[in-house]
Amino acid sequence: MRDAVGDGAVNGDEPSGKDLLYEQLKAYEGRPATTSGVGKDTVNEPMIRHWCEAMGDANPAYPAVAPPTMLQAWTMGGLSGHTGRTAAYDELFALLDGAGCTAVVATDCEQEYLRDLRPGDRITFDAVIESVSERKKTALGTGYFVTTRMDVRGGGELAGTHRFRILKYAPGARTKTPAGGTGARATGGGRPGARRPRPVVNRDNAGFWDGVARHQLLIQRCTSCSALRFPWLPGCNACGSPEWDTVAASGAGTVYSYVVMHHPAFPAFDPPYAVGLIELAEGVRMVSNVIGVPYDKVRVGLPVSLEFLRVDEDLELPVFRGSGG
Ligand code: ZN
Repeated sequence: MRDAVGDGAVNGDEPSGKDLLYEQLKAYEGRPATTSGVGKDTVNEPMIRHWCEAMGDANPAYPAVAPPTMLQAWTMGGLSGHTGRTAAYDELFALLDGAGCTAVVATDCEQEYLRDLRPGDRITFDAVIESVSERKKTALGTGYFVTTRMDVRGGGELAGTHRFRILKYAPGARTKTPAGGTGARATGGGRPGARRPRPVVNRDNAGFWDGVARHQLLIQRCTSCSALRFPWLPGCNACGSPEWDTVAASGAGTVYSYVVMHHPAFPAFDPPYAVGLIELAEGVRMVSNVIGVPYDKVRVGLPVSLEFLRVDEDLELPVFRGSGG
C-alpha cells in the first residue's frame, strides 16, 4: 500500500467515498499525547538571558520573569528526547504513516498566558490530542491537521497553554528527474536522481521567486524609509512599515563569509562544497552557492557575479560565480 505515497494519494476510502481513516483518527481526539511531563530545567535566568539576546528583547522586566513566549522552551526535550509521550500519540502517527501520510510539517501554534513564570519555578506539563481535521488537500500534499494542546504549569499552577498544529500528509506526486540529470551539479554532483530541497514559497516571499523565474534577483525596499532588506519579510525592521517595493540586484557581489560543508552528506549534494554568505553590491547579504571556484579556493572578499542555475525542471536558483573560475 505504500506505493500510493509517490502519487500523493491517501489510502483509507471505501468505495462509497467515506473517509474511513478520518473516522479512526477522530477517535483519538481527547486522548492524552503527553502525561506528567517534567521540564528538564527549572525556569532559570541563563536561559531567559540567552532567549532575550537571541530575540533582541531588552525589556527590563526580564530576567526577573520569563518572557511569556518562552512557554514552550521550558517543555522541550532537547536531543535526549521528550518524557511522557503516550502510546496513543504514537498510534495516531502510525495510522497516518500506514495510510501514506509519511511527511510532517509544523503549520502554526497559538499560546495563551495565564501567569508569569519566574526563575525557580518547576515546570510540569500534559498534552492532549485536541483535534484532527478532515482530510485536506494542500499545496504540499493531501493529509490531516493534528492539533495538540499542552497545558504548562509552573510550581503546580497553570501558567499557559500551547496549541501546536501539524500537517501529516502524503507528499505530492514527484516529478521524475532524469537519471544523472542536472540536479545539484553546481556543487559537484550528489547521488544521481536525488533532488535538491524545494524552497518554501509563501505569500511573503512569492515575489522573490517570481523574480527568479524572470532571472531577476529582487531585493525588497521599504517605501517609507528606503531601507533594503533580504531575505523577504512582511515588514521593515528599520521603521516597521509594511509598505514595500523591489529593486533588482545588479548581480555584483563579494563573499562576505562562507563555510565548507563536509558533513552531514545530503543526498542531492556532494561534499565538500562551499556555502557563501554573499554581500550584494546593494549592501544586503544572502546565502547561496559559490560556483566556478574549487571549494578550497573560496575566500572572504572574493568578487562574485550572479547567475541563474537550472537545477531541474521545477527549480531554478540564483547562484554566484567566483571570479577567476
Ligand atoms: Zn522602513
